[in-house]
Amino acid sequence: MTTNHEVTSAVGELAEWQRSLRAQFPIVAAHPDLAYLDSAATAQKPQPVLDAVQTYLTTTNANAGRGTYPWANRTTALVEQTRDRVREFLADPAPGRSAVHFTSGTTEGLRTIARDWLPDFLADGDEIVVPVADHRANIDPWTETQRLLARQGVRVRVVEMPYQQASGDYDHTALARLAGPRTRFVAVTHVHHVYGGDMNVHRVREAVGPDAVICLDAAQSVGHVPVSVADLDVDFVAFSGHKALALPGTGAVWARQARGPAFTPGGWSGTPNTVGIVSLAAALDWLRAAGADRIERWTVALAARLTDGLSRLDAYEVVGCRTSLAADSPVQRRRGIVTFRHRGIGSGDLGFILFSHGFMVRCDQHCQGGAGERSESVRVSLHVHNTVEEIDRLLSVLAALG
Ligand code: PMP
Repeated sequence: MTTNHEVTSAVGELAEWQRSLRAQFPIVAAHPDLAYLDSAATAQKPQPVLDAVQTYLTTTNANAGRGTYPWANRTTALVEQTRDRVREFLADPAPGRSAVHFTSGTTEGLRTIARDWLPDFLADGDEIVVPVADHRANIDPWTETQRLLARQGVRVRVVEMPYQQASGDYDHTALARLAGPRTRFVAVTHVHHVYGGDMNVHRVREAVGPDAVICLDAAQSVGHVPVSVADLDVDFVAFSGHKALALPGTGAVWARQARGPAFTPGGWSGTPNTVGIVSLAAALDWLRAAGADRIERWTVALAARLTDGLSRLDAYEVVGCRTSLAADSPVQRRRGIVTFRHRGIGSGDLGFILFSHGFMVRCDQHCQGGAGERSESVRVSLHVHNTVEEIDRLLSVLAALG
């Protein structure tokens, strides 16, 4: 939880720290006239991540787990060390008992859990909770498993996650009413990719009780806010490395292995994305040194400034999380994502106009599930390289559109 006092003080306190980090993103430094505001889709890479990739490919490149000469051994070791880095990054309190599996991103991670683990866990008459207004990557795999099991005569009921209409937050009170002893698996999201809110996973655990497995889609939290499995009582965490400053085609699943069978993704998995895994280790090191808590404070402060500015402009409607400076709440729930619409200009057109002023934003339905927003919107998603000046310039362009 971030108080609004902390939000307003972050900009001044972190300014120097932020400048030194921004300077480490070569693509950002090379384009001072452009503002990259789409980090929720994929993040830009700091120089040390690019260096790690270059060093690996020019000194070590080999396959992992398949050779006995030094480059191959070293690659195997780098892959294993990166598993430990993931555990450390997630503050795993029992690293000897968890599993880390590398994937191409959150989508593949969630689908692997759904395909290789969930069918053995569920029995006829069980229920699973599916967050129907979250990202489709966190909906489709669970309903596919339900259909697969139905073909084998195992009937699993899908309970649709209830939401609070105005904020896009889960309705934890309604969830507590819906959850019963057969509710065995609950899919949730840490930070919502459209509404921008922290989905309050602690309250999900309170609502569903101690025995249900909770699977966390951390695509918008790993690399953006602290994610601690010592603190969150969840069983799976899936995330995308490419949204956490590593190369595209990287990601991981962390599994606690405490409730249900061990997570051992089946079958022959082929050559791993060795260079991507190397980039993930470098990205996690960079993020740890920068401090996920400070990155969170910075991006939350910028998002609050944008939300606040937008709420003063009659032509715009902010979508989702309302608990912000503008709403005068004691607690800041919005993370670094702000989604909005102009009441008269279509979102696609607004995206074109914004790019003509140098702003790169996302304008569509953001791969949201069927229970989500009916119409398109503009999403601004922030990272540590973004500045107060970019937000203020964006607000003045938006204001001029009336
Ligand atoms: N979940 C959420 C909340 C997301 O925002 C995204 C990416 N937009 C995904 C899952 C899917 O991530 P990926 O495309 O890296 O598999």
